[in-house]
Amino acid sequence: MKLRDYHTHSRRCGHGLGEIEDYVKSAIVKNLNEIGIADHFPIRAVNQDPELRETLKIASMEVEEFPRYIKEIKGLKEKYKNKIDIRISTEVGFYTPGGALSLQKEVLEPFMDDIDYILGGIHDIKWHDSPLILLDPSLASEIFGKYGKDKIILEYLNKLIKLVDTTFFDVIAHFDYYRMMYRPNKPIYSQNIWQKLLDLLDNIKNKGMAIEINTSASRKSLDNQFPDDKIIKEIIQRKIPLLLGSDAHKPEEVGYMFEETLEKVKKWGLTHLCVYENREQKLVKI
Ligand SMILES: [Zn+2]
Ligand SMILES: [Zn+2]
Repeated sequence: MKLRDYHTHSRRCGHGLGEIEDYVKSAIVKNLNEIGIADHFPIRAVNQDPELRETLKIASMEVEEFPRYIKEIKGLKEKYKNKIDIRISTEVGFYTPGGALSLQKEVLEPFMDDIDYILGGIHDIKWHDSPLILLDPSLASEIFGKYGKDKIILEYLNKLIKLVDTTFFDVIAHFDYYRMMYRPNKPIYSQNIWQKLLDLLDNIKNKGMAIEINTSASRKSLDNQFPDDKIIKEIIQRKIPLLLGSDAHKPEEVGYMFEETLEKVKKWGLTHLCVYENREQKLVKI
């Protein structure tokens, strides 16, 4: 089976371990065909708050570091070209209101020719009068007490709808990351919210975007990958392109649980995964 891991980090983001090269070597040892390096895009491109300087240091690389990041991957691509295909990416956090994306695009612009695909991820939510709410399980009971349980999924989906509408991102990372807030339980979908989610999937299909099967959920005490089984079945029915990502923050996590996960989703009718090169998507048979 040809396996490709499209979502890996490294020590550069401040909360990962090991150099990019260690992840590449791990992918070679695990016999992967391809590895995508997708470290967190600099949060400081959109957040200049001096008080958050230390906090943001352990959330993503600095803006000045981004050119060195791209250069390093290009060097590794050349060095390992006979052993493995390396793809260049970055996981861009999506923020609303929309002004943030233009700041992110400014930093990305000089490197767009090097980039193979862009992962879009949501790690927090905010609506008009709310504070910024991190999707951090330790805050769950406080947030649920204040806003109710439906609100988190609802506002996450509203944000995801906006992310999709930008048409800037190639792949949606950890599609239902809000599940972090509900663990160890599963969220309960009201009929309205479930319909909203299905409508969003239809829109993703129309836009030609891909969704990542992110296996890190099982490392985060959730019962299966992102997105949940129930959502993956809807994705497969709609023939929305899928790819695999481990969200590795340690070299040994590259390709984490890929074989088991693929065996499972193949039973639901998945026959192809997608690949990216120079932001062009292609389907390949599993
Ligand atoms: Zn993420
Ligand atoms: Zn990630």
